[in-house]
Amino acid sequence: MSVEIVFVMVGTTHTGNLGAAARAMKTMGFTKMRLVDACSHLSAEALARSSGANDVLKDAQTFDSLQAAIADCRVVIGTSARARQLAVPLLSCREIATELGEAAHSSLSGQKVAMVFGQERSGLSNESLDLCTRLLRIPCNPDFSSLNLGSAVQVVSYELSQALVSVPQGAPSPQPGKWKGTDDGENAIPAPTDPDELPATSDNMEHFFEHLDRVMVTTGFLDPDNPRLLRRRVRRYFESNRPTGSELAIFRGILSAVENPRKRK
Ligand code: SAH
Repeated sequence: MSVEIVFVMVGTTHTGNLGAAARAMKTMGFTKMRLVDACSHLSAEALARSSGANDVLKDAQTFDSLQAAIADCRVVIGTSARARQLAVPLLSCREIATELGEAAHSSLSGQKVAMVFGQERSGLSNESLDLCTRLLRIPCNPDFSSLNLGSAVQVVSYELSQALVSVPQGAPSPQPGKWKGTDDGENAIPAPTDPDELPATSDNMEHFFEHLDRVMVTTGFLDPDNPRLLRRRVRRYFESNRPTGSELAIFRGILSAVENPRKRK
């Protein structure tokens, strides 16, 4: 049982950092890189800095938006050097890794988890953070807290590898990027077989938010010309406690009933 970790690089401006990120990932056994609005990942500098992790760069997938890049993910972790206002819960790198390690062999087994990294200068935008279910911060000097992008990828992938892999002494190494959970024995909690009982994918969450927005506007609850922080607060609530597919279907049903009220006989 395992989770599939995908590393999403948003707005990266230095090709060398993409190479360093690929190298950092591969040393810890991760291979899936996705790129959004990033510089050329196949440039000579990127390939040179990857020091042999060319395969990670060559296999990297590019997307037009972060939303598209994480559409199939059920957990989305944004990484940030600083706490943000009105964001989903912020945890340390190790806390997130521990949480994922536990879920890897039970509720999230076989599912995709995105780790999202921001641009070198400005980090992740508020719009990008709105798509995340958790925020990860690498604890460091509060007066000097911004790591180089490649270094941040190294620390995150190291912590994840430690939490997700369980290699008994002398056992063969697990397959790269397909780490086993820490307890595959009899005591492991069986993974839910019904995908509707898993946390909803980002794609399904976006459809839900569109529906909710439409109902908030048509009922007059939300003034689209003066939304203030309502949308962000609503998003934060649902992303912090991402519903399962079947729970989301109930909310969608309520919204549809508000749009088309049915008379009781
Ligand atoms: N001023 C930006 C720093 C960007 S550094 C900010 O406040 O976020 C580029 C990227 O490296 C960040 O977007 C994040 O993905 C990662 N990063 C750097 N330092 C980090 C830290 N202490 N914790 C978590 N991620 C970090």
